[in-house]
Amino acid sequence: MNRKPIFAANWKMNKGASETEDFLKSFLSKLQGQDFPCEIVIAPPFVSLAKLAELLHTATAVQNAHAIQIAAQNCSQFDAGAYTGEVSVLMLREFFVHYVILGHSERRAIYGETDAFINAKIIKAREANLKPIFCIGETLAEREAGKLESVLRTQITDGLKNVPEKDMLETVVAYEPVWAIGTGVTATSQQAQDAHAFVRSVIADLYGADTASRIRIQYGGSVKPNNAAELMACPDIDGALIGGAALEPQSFLEIIRNGCDHGGQ
Ligand code: PEP
Repeated sequence: MNRKPIFAANWKMNKGASETEDFLKSFLSKLQGQDFPCEIVIAPPFVSLAKLAELLHTATAVQNAHAIQIAAQNCSQFDAGAYTGEVSVLMLREFFVHYVILGHSERRAIYGETDAFINAKIIKAREANLKPIFCIGETLAEREAGKLESVLRTQITDGLKNVPEKDMLETVVAYEPVWAIGTGVTATSQQAQDAHAFVRSVIADLYGADTASRIRIQYGGSVKPNNAAELMACPDIDGALIGGAALEPQSFLEIIRNGCDHGGQ
């Protein structure tokens, strides 16, 4: 099955509008003339979405640059109203947002997001035709206690409750072992491949083998230029969700280049 790899930069709470502009100008100039067989996504903070959308619109018109998709890092499960601090899916659409990261381990751990809450947001995102980047992953304690598979199965089953197959096909899953996020410790390619194969098997249980074979599953957790190729060469790894190493245009580009050279179909 041909699955187009997807490399997404999760900037977290980094880069306001002016830093977004600096990054994008540099990134586009490095990207100029290169055509990678993958999707490239950038998820800036909410306040930088407008700047990113404006720059990409101008850049694609002027330079015919590689299409870059915009992601948000979160969304509300509600449409509008008295929800201080929240941003709705329709507001995101106004900034040409196509993807939304949901269920990131930082939101689960720091803001107490539950599988049910994440599920409500996935359903709301699909109502607005946003594509969820649905993050799952185990803590080190859970892995060491032999709970890897049960944790992943629960996150997937509860996070995707009532999500129909047609919406699942528009969803990207990001397997991110919590112990590898921002720590510099990466899962070995064997650990990552085993977890990805398991995730795909759970999706097959829920949606059937054909759908499971079409879903893209990204790996996330200290992906760097020097480990991207080995990870992306694994048969069930279809790209990466990248935090720290995507803050610099050069390292983000090298991850994409190395990943596309050795992985992807
Ligand atoms: C992330 O935040 O999703 C992530 C994978 O971060 P890092 O690449 O810094 O580990």
